[in-house]
Amino acid sequence: MSLQERIDQTIRNVPDFPKPGIQFKDITPILEDPKLSEEVVAAFAQFWKGKVDAIAGVESRGFLFGFPLAMQLNVPFILIRKKGKLPYQTVSYKYDLEYGSAEIEMHVGAVKDGMNVLIHDDLLATGGTAGAAAELIKKEGGKVAGFSFLVELEFLKGADKLSSYSDVVQRIVS
Ligand code: 5GP
Repeated sequence: MSLQERIDQTIRNVPDFPKPGIQFKDITPILEDPKLSEEVVAAFAQFWKGKVDAIAGVESRGFLFGFPLAMQLNVPFILIRKKGKLPYQTVSYKYDLEYGSAEIEMHVGAVKDGMNVLIHDDLLATGGTAGAAAELIKKEGGKVAGFSFLVELEFLKGADKLSSYSDVVQRIVS
């Protein structure tokens, strides 16, 4: 069985979470399988090796594979978190959601001028979150090297929203 098929079979589909009518893709069963988790990181690493100066992971599931990937590629890892979670000085970006808005932050100085940054998260849905992360990286003088996701919900066409930042969108399962 391919890596894609094994990931697809391991992910748990949870109906009506967080709201009625939404089916949530729960990736936590992958974390219970260290061998599979290692293969996931290796698949990301193979794709991005030598192409990025840093990896920015989006809270919180973007930290799970993002940080091991950064260690594997021997590049810095940058945390992108929801407003109010990071202790040091931050730079922030506010973006619109279907209902209301959200704000994400990153530590000042984490992105160096001209740094080629990969934006990583567990799942691509509408692309709103990853797009906001890209804005934050640009605001700090970085370049968006591309995006990587474990899973893409293809029918939501999130990659279209990201094309103004980069055409390089890796997704292991879509
Ligand atoms: P977007 O901004 O692309 O619409 O939503 C993606 C963000 O929401 C990611 O940070 C992702 O972790 C989270 N997300 C939305 N739906 C799901 C889901 O079904 N499963 C998981 N694991 N995360 C989701």
